[in-house]
Amino acid sequence: MKAAKLFGPRDTRVVEVDRPEPGPGELLVAVKAVAICPSDLHLWEAGHAGGTYPDHPFTQGHEFSGVVAELGPGVQGPAPGTPVAVTPLWSCGECDLCREGMSNICRNLVFPSFPQADGAMAEYMAVPAWSVEPLPAGLGFAQGALIEPLQAAVHAVSLAAIEPGATVAVVGAGIIGLSVLQVVRLRGAERVYVADPLDNNRQLADKLGATATARFATDLLESLADLSQQPRVVFECAGHPQALHQAMELCRPAGLVVIIGVPHPDVIDFDTRPSRRKQLHFVVSRRYTRETLKEAVQLVAEGRVDLKIYPVRTFPLQQAPQAMQAAMDKAGEMLRAIVTP
Ligand SMILES: [Zn+2]
Ligand SMILES: [Zn+2]
Repeated sequence: MKAAKLFGPRDTRVVEVDRPEPGPGELLVAVKAVAICPSDLHLWEAGHAGGTYPDHPFTQGHEFSGVVAELGPGVQGPAPGTPVAVTPLWSCGECDLCREGMSNICRNLVFPSFPQADGAMAEYMAVPAWSVEPLPAGLGFAQGALIEPLQAAVHAVSLAAIEPGATVAVVGAGIIGLSVLQVVRLRGAERVYVADPLDNNRQLADKLGATATARFATDLLESLADLSQQPRVVFECAGHPQALHQAMELCRPAGLVVIIGVPHPDVIDFDTRPSRRKQLHFVVSRRYTRETLKEAVQLVAEGRVDLKIYPVRTFPLQQAPQAMQAAMDKAGEMLRAIVTP
């Protein structure tokens, strides 16, 4: 089969490799769409993920969907031919953290596309049978791939205990931020303020029901009737040191800042003053748990979350190197470059 492999920084090549065999408890997925995540771009650009270097030509991609192609020994289904979304969170199910329901921070976690577990940018991939969920009828594979970032939003919102009528803000309106916007509204948030420097992203936030939008989070303070209206929960989805600072400035005293964005670079400075003066709470959201996939698929199946609104651009597998470059350049108005093996 063909696979897109990273041989070194910015060096993706499509090569011929052996087709994987599904082992006991696994099934083989014919991959149909892989969305390129900003975290894939960090590895692509630097050649390592947080200091871990791939020890072999490496397959990237963890936001993906496909069709069940073959069942491994002992696996009952879903039947071959079933379109599925796949969660790339392969937790052990046995460690202390898994047993306490925190499979997202499993001690033995395998997350394909982070070294040394190959990702999905290939024609086929063997995955644990429990890690798939049938796609809602009529959902395209590209949107199926976007169920993974939706899971990140569902998990982050679950950490915040949104109360009905709540005022919330989202800083950074990429796919994760816009998905947080959709999910907090479902959880009963009445006013959701959104900040993003890009016009296109703010327009999408408007369409998805944002109360007000601004280029920067601190500008949103002017949209508030008075300071008692400050958001009690602010989701930082930009991964930018400035955005984190602004999230703290925007947050109501004693409020909660949920950090979802991955800061780039890894080590950042932050001004502690707003957090101390306002006694802010912080929580860092890590991916999602084993249970989140079902919940995310259900939200899409019920038509409560719209994934079709996100502009994407598709590339055949042969053009995986161009797709990585386009994702890096954020070419056009797309929120994700999607490779379709
Ligand atoms: Zn991702
Ligand atoms: Zn575990």
